[in-house]
Amino acid sequence: MTNPLLQAWTTPFQIAPFAEIEDEHFAPALDEALSAHMAEIDAIADSLDAPTFENTIEAMEGAGEALDKVLSVFYSLAGADSTPKRQELQRDFSPKLSAHSSAISANEALFKRIETLWNVRDTLDLSPEQARVLMLTHRGFVRSGAALAGEQADLMKEVKSRLATLGTQFVQNLLKDESDWVMPLSDEALAELPDFVQDAARAAGDEKDTGGPVVTLSRSIIVPFLQFSPRRDLRKNAYAAWAARGANGGDTDNRGIAGETLKLRETRAHLLGYPDFAHYKLETEMAGKPVAVRDLLMQVWEPAKAQAGKDADILEKMLHADGIDGPLKPWDWRYYSEQRRKVEHDLDEAVLKPYFQLDRMIDASFSCATRLFGLEFKPLDLPLYHEDCRVWEVLRDGEHVAVFIGDYFARGSKRSGAWCSAMRGQARKPKVQAPIVINVCNFAKPSASKPALLSYDDARTLFHEFGHALHQMLSDVEYESVSGTSVARDFVELPSQLYEHWLDVPEVLAEFATHAETGEAMPQDLLDKVLGAATYDMGFSTVEYVASALVDLAFHEGDATADPMQKQAEVLAEIGMPHAIGMRHATPQFAHVFAGDGYSSGYYSYMWSEVMDADAFEAFEEAGDPFDPETAKRLADTVLSSGGSKDAGALYLAFRGRMPGVDALLKGRGLAA
Ligand SMILES: [Zn+2]
Repeated sequence: MTNPLLQAWTTPFQIAPFAEIEDEHFAPALDEALSAHMAEIDAIADSLDAPTFENTIEAMEGAGEALDKVLSVFYSLAGADSTPKRQELQRDFSPKLSAHSSAISANEALFKRIETLWNVRDTLDLSPEQARVLMLTHRGFVRSGAALAGEQADLMKEVKSRLATLGTQFVQNLLKDESDWVMPLSDEALAELPDFVQDAARAAGDEKDTGGPVVTLSRSIIVPFLQFSPRRDLRKNAYAAWAARGANGGDTDNRGIAGETLKLRETRAHLLGYPDFAHYKLETEMAGKPVAVRDLLMQVWEPAKAQAGKDADILEKMLHADGIDGPLKPWDWRYYSEQRRKVEHDLDEAVLKPYFQLDRMIDASFSCATRLFGLEFKPLDLPLYHEDCRVWEVLRDGEHVAVFIGDYFARGSKRSGAWCSAMRGQARKPKVQAPIVINVCNFAKPSASKPALLSYDDARTLFHEFGHALHQMLSDVEYESVSGTSVARDFVELPSQLYEHWLDVPEVLAEFATHAETGEAMPQDLLDKVLGAATYDMGFSTVEYVASALVDLAFHEGDATADPMQKQAEVLAEIGMPHAIGMRHATPQFAHVFAGDGYSSGYYSYMWSEVMDADAFEAFEEAGDPFDPETAKRLADTVLSSGGSKDAGALYLAFRGRMPGVDALLKGRGLAA
């Protein structure tokens, strides 16, 4: 059998020949690609030639071409067009892939070559990018424990494996507590809710076979319930259950797991020579050190707390006006805030929607990229994995830059959310390759002959994901491991969040946010309402987020605490947490931090990126033109073309001439004094 995944692709732009690929091709292709990659790695590691940058680091960059092809096709389909068969394959693949990468980082002969190069790096005459790729490769091996030997290596292995088990248990406990709790709703309590919440409560009742509508602890039901139900007793009940997830005692209690996790992370950091886990974790981030994170969070915390205090006074008066004595509580905030929002920012989605046509918004995102970066988009007619996919060739001055694919509509086979991925990343060495980039969204598909319409949030999502796509498409580096979005976690959302700002530029809205039937531009008062609503209740959401980020940081700095709940209480007392707001994620529910390493001492990074995007867009405002050519060129030359080939802080500095400050963010969130 010839397996199309393993053949040379002769399609236009070497896009995967989706029409020829069957599900049966994946498993044998993966096995073959994994062994081919391992053979290449072994050949590099066991080479008798003295190590050079080319025969070791560059050779590693070029290895695994077949594996890249198989995985890019498979993960595109697994995410955007899944089937039970593909899910099964995914379950089979993930342990194989993690064993594969562990085997590479445990390859002693390979590490020895890398270590040798690292020790003589100053004599190798490397370009700045090569020096950085060597540093990143070496650092990656060291951080995974490759330099440890004997008992220390054994202990590291034990710690990692125990941490993986605890992470899985943490999530499973949380899911169990979430799925065990329901609150039945009487006919009267149901009738007081808006239609969409009623529908969700009925659907939840059907799913759980409760014989009637229920509130569950799924965020998509509990949050609107707290927002819309006038029944304070029910809100209090539901909120208490929500806040108690993972802290109900018994088998599903996460508090012990949290404590053990923190202790093990500390051991891991100490083994690798770091004073604590936060220092280990932040070493690879733009922030670099815990003190930089705390500084930034505290600069946002005080103004957010002040705003939340003012808002609390207003909401508490509304509570008292309802004949209820006493202070505003966490189960009251969302309800009274919603009542207030209705008065101050009444936005009718139905009136708004015809102004955001999908096709016009795609045009708008392209038009901004043309004006800013000289990119042109030429529609292509190519078969992909689903008929809803659209494809464009991206050109600049008539030269091929990239292929861009948009897969915009929701369907049952697509996972939720929106994302950007590269089916092929940009590189020049050891082989020249142009990027193939895809944006996947979940917008509602219209019935035939009607134009697809977006909400304002959908349109922002479209711009956001297109910003990530630009980061991939404008990438201009030598090595794929540092191309496009291969950057620090606290830097990766800069291009995407920054691009959202162009949606709000009045001339862009005037040209592209036109009514689907009349073709008229959006009236100014409607536009003002849209932009005003975007900053509503930011005191609350900033406080609940920053409190969680500060607790996360405190957990991983200094000596590990034996009692995370006590530590959480201390941090909240110290920062003066407003009594009517809960943490966005309290410890027993903080899956970002305890379900794995991803966001541990990294929960701050959403805010870090937002500070930068606000500050970066201000560079255009200072230049007096959102399309100022000089500023746009500087953005492309520094941030957007460099991927991770330079330090993130250095890139930002090169773009802005200084490091980011919080003023623009506070202004954007309506928190400036
Ligand atoms: Zn993003």
